[in-house]
Amino acid sequence: MPDVKPATSLLTTSYQNGQFVLPSLPYDHKALEPLYDARTLEIHHTKHHAGYVKGLNTTLDKLAAARKSGDYGAVTALSRDLAFHGSGHVLHCLFWNSMTPGGSKTPEMLAVAMKDSFGSVEAGQAQFAAATKAVEGSGWGVLAYGPVSDKLFILQCEKHQNLAVWGVVPLLVCDVWEHAYYLLYQNRRPDWVDAFMKLANWEFAAQRLAEARE
Ligand code: FE
Repeated sequence: MPDVKPATSLLTTSYQNGQFVLPSLPYDHKALEPLYDARTLEIHHTKHHAGYVKGLNTTLDKLAAARKSGDYGAVTALSRDLAFHGSGHVLHCLFWNSMTPGGSKTPEMLAVAMKDSFGSVEAGQAQFAAATKAVEGSGWGVLAYGPVSDKLFILQCEKHQNLAVWGVVPLLVCDVWEHAYYLLYQNRRPDWVDAFMKLANWEFAAQRLAEARE
């Protein structure tokens, strides 16, 4: 018998009718007291998390307007806003579900994965706590799964908006480190990107999308 029930779908609770929405909490405001107080929880959820949701929807509207007008003058600022609000929304959705009144035991399948990745459950928990305490400035401690190696990773996430939206699955990527184009294109990165666009494998991207949707 599997000892893991499927988690509440973040897809259906945090995105509805074409808009990102603030999901309701999986417990009431007092449920985590005294370890996490009702007032902090309420402000964190209804003010901070709600701000990310609003910012994410506004940014997506502005990007839609840019696509329509063809004016990409603000694309860097908008990409930053997308990463900031998008990651804020995703990580807070995960954060609310990462706590439960009284805590929980470690299901066997996760214990096996932690043992495989970290040596033991306790070693993984110790590294998670140490890494999270040591995040420089604002940020997050993250337990993550790496599908390429089938291993777990413990990451420090500084801030959360460094131009990635947590939880996305990459479909198609273009390398713009200088090593990728300097011999042929020197400092002309736009020429390299234009060349890449002529080489792009959209069939591969489609396969990745199909896999990600499974
Ligand atoms: Fe927060």
